[in-house]
Amino acid sequence: MKTNATPSRRKLLQLAAAALSVGIIPMMGRASDDSDNDYETGDDDLSSNNTTLALANTGLKANIVVIGGGMAGVTAAKYLRLWGGVDINVTLVEPNAMYTSNIMSNLVLNGSRTINSLAYGYTSVAAKYGVVVKQAWVQSVDTAGKSVTLSNGSTLPYDRLIVAPGIEFMNAFGLTQSDYESKTPHAWRAGPQTELLRQQLAAIPLDGTFVMTIPKAPYRCPPGPYERACLVADFLKTHKGAASKVVVLDENASIQAEVHSFTEAFTHIHNGVIDYRPGVTNIQIDPDTKAVSFKDAQGLPVTILANVVNPIPPQRAAGSDGGWLAQTGLNNSVSNGVPDGRWCVVDVLSYESTAVKDVHVIGDAASCGLPKAGHVANQEAKICADAIIRTLGGQQPDSAPVANSACYSPITATTASWLTAVYQYDAVNKKMALAANGGVTTGATATEAGAIDTENFRDMNTWFNTLMSDSYA
Ligand SMILES: Cc1cc2nc3c(=O)[nH]c(=O)nc-3n(C[C@H](O)[C@H](O)[C@H](O)COP(=O)(O)OP(=O)(O)OC[C@H]3O[C@@H](n4cnc5c(N)ncnc54)[C@H](O)[C@@H]3O)c2cc1C
Repeated sequence: MKTNATPSRRKLLQLAAAALSVGIIPMMGRASDDSDNDYETGDDDLSSNNTTLALANTGLKANIVVIGGGMAGVTAAKYLRLWGGVDINVTLVEPNAMYTSNIMSNLVLNGSRTINSLAYGYTSVAAKYGVVVKQAWVQSVDTAGKSVTLSNGSTLPYDRLIVAPGIEFMNAFGLTQSDYESKTPHAWRAGPQTELLRQQLAAIPLDGTFVMTIPKAPYRCPPGPYERACLVADFLKTHKGAASKVVVLDENASIQAEVHSFTEAFTHIHNGVIDYRPGVTNIQIDPDTKAVSFKDAQGLPVTILANVVNPIPPQRAAGSDGGWLAQTGLNNSVSNGVPDGRWCVVDVLSYESTAVKDVHVIGDAASCGLPKAGHVANQEAKICADAIIRTLGGQQPDSAPVANSACYSPITATTASWLTAVYQYDAVNKKMALAANGGVTTGATATEAGAIDTENFRDMNTWFNTLMSDSYA
């Protein structure tokens, strides 16, 4: 993406706020560091139908089950109740008592945030909107009989199902899934691996070498790996010596997002520390010796001995590798004309699966032409909830949906850049496409920050708190 005419950062915040605006509750991020107790233990059903918010009596009735309480699923559950009213019964199934935000999790690595500060609970969506929250895994879905079976043995019938399980990680680099948990963390799902990577970074020797890998697109959060490279470089040169190295092995031919900002960061701000190598192939990693071998863009073999290795594996929809999702047939994506079973293709007017009727897929698991990002997941959830409500009321889904993508990227411990884009329905090609000047426009691009600075860093927290509040509060 190249830099476009740059709106002011105030304009970006206004754009982001406008995109999130419907139903924003003036209650900021419910992180676990907050003083109020967010979660009641000892009960797998966290809900109450005594909502603290008066919901409308719309006359619409349906049982809707949502799988996954991440950025996409929780937003859909909340807005289905808010817009659909009291007789739209919504059950959210999520195995974890608290959700850990991936967004901002790179700031745990340099000690700017704690992992606990990124935890969000389900009390608000249960108490305020009357979403029934079941703390369990989905084990199987009977799409013919329209029911979901949970890890606690119970079954949930549905009229409509929303699938939002995020991603799982594919085998790669000669590593096992347990290598990621104990030796070479990917930390691409925030949680214990983020904490392990932080500890490994803190223990790296003076002038040590950190090697990270970036999988071929599509992957979760296009700017995220480059943001991580910048924050690790900033940490190492500040605390571990100016001769420290961050080697970035990118399986893509070039930087995948915020090209202007990250080029500036790699070639000026972190010059001499970040060693960016695009177009690499055949990456192999020894989890014990931390030897990383690969072929460079010219096809020549190279081996680097690292102190810390952070391989980000290729990804696919969670449950699609022979698991519960694969058994539904929802994972019907095709790559280069060949079915690859990685993602769930949807109609972007409603997010209904193109493979299974009355099942909708949102967030990173979906293949819909939009970037795999939390802000986008929030937008997809609202378009999907709106389409379901309209359909239940005998209408058609909105024929011209618009989605906004906004994202801030910290570049150092105190500065950040940003990226924003507007996507609109392209009726000719039946997909979401970049828009400009009020319509789908050939050559429209995402817009990047004009500068990397501390004001962006401050605005980043406002954006993050607003987004998380819109989803979880
Ligand atoms: C380091 C990093 C930085 C990022 N930064 C940004 C950013 O700045 N801006 C941005 O917009 N995005 C960012 N992202 C991307 C963003 O986090 C994801 O795109 C977003 O979380 C996707 O939402 P989701 O709901 O699809 O998946 P998730 O948020 O992963 O939620 C999926 C949920 O489904 C649950 N689940 C899985 N399987 C089952 C099952 N069988 N039964 C029940 N529940 C299940 C999981 O427990 C999980 O809670 C970042 C990601 C990373 C890794």
